Amino acid sequence: MINLVLFGKPGAGKGTQAEFLKSKYQLFHISTGDLFRHHISNKTELGTLAQSYMDKGDLVPDQVTIDMLKDAVENNPEAKGFIFDGFPRTTKQAEALDAFLSEKSIQISATLALEADDDILVERLINRGKTSGRADDQDEDKIRNRFDEYNNKTAPLRSFYVAQGKFHSVDGIGSVDQITQRLTALIDGLL
Ligand code: AMP
Repeated sequence: MINLVLFGKPGAGKGTQAEFLKSKYQLFHISTGDLFRHHISNKTELGTLAQSYMDKGDLVPDQVTIDMLKDAVENNPEAKGFIFDGFPRTTKQAEALDAFLSEKSIQISATLALEADDDILVERLINRGKTSGRADDQDEDKIRNRFDEYNNKTAPLRSFYVAQGKFHSVDGIGSVDQITQRLTALIDGLL
C-alpha cells in the first residue's frame, strides 16, 4: 500500500499533482481544503466553523480537521492507498495521522514536498483566484497570512518527516508535466 503526503506552501501545486498521481498509482485523494469547501457549500455546521478561519487564511483548529480526515479514511476502506493533500499541516495533525494509521497497521510511505519561492506562489494564487472564486486566493494579505501560518505551524513538519527518513524535496517550478515526471520518478524509486 502506498500512502503519500503532498507537502508544500499554498499554490505549490499539490492539488494539481494529486490529480495525476491518484490515477497513475490508483490512490484515493483526500484534500482537507476540498472537504472543508464541500462542507461550506453544503452549509453544514462544520462548514460554517471552517469558513470563519479559511476566509482569513488561518488554519482550522486541529481536532475538527483530524476528525474530518479520519472519517474520510474510514469511509474508503477499499482504497489501495491514499494521497493526503494539505494534511497534515501541524505537528499535532502529523502525530494524530501516524497514530491513526498505525492502528490500521499502515503507514505513510513518503512525504513529497513541492518547493517554490513565495513570490512565484503569490502570483500563481492571485491568478488562480481570478477563476477559482476562492476568497482566500484573491487578497494578497490573506495569501501572506496563509504563508505565515505555513511558516509557523506547517514548516516544522519538515524535520518531523526528515527524522522518519520519509521527506523528499521536489522542485515545484516548471511545467505541470515536468513536475509530475519529477514526482513519479521519485515515487517509482520508492516502490
Ligand atoms: P487548501 O485548499 O489546502 O489551500 O486549504 C484551504 C484552507 O483550508 C486553509 O487555508 C485552511 O484554512 C483550511 N485547511 C485545509 N487543510 C487544513 C489542515 N490540514 N489544517 C487546518 N486547516 C486546513
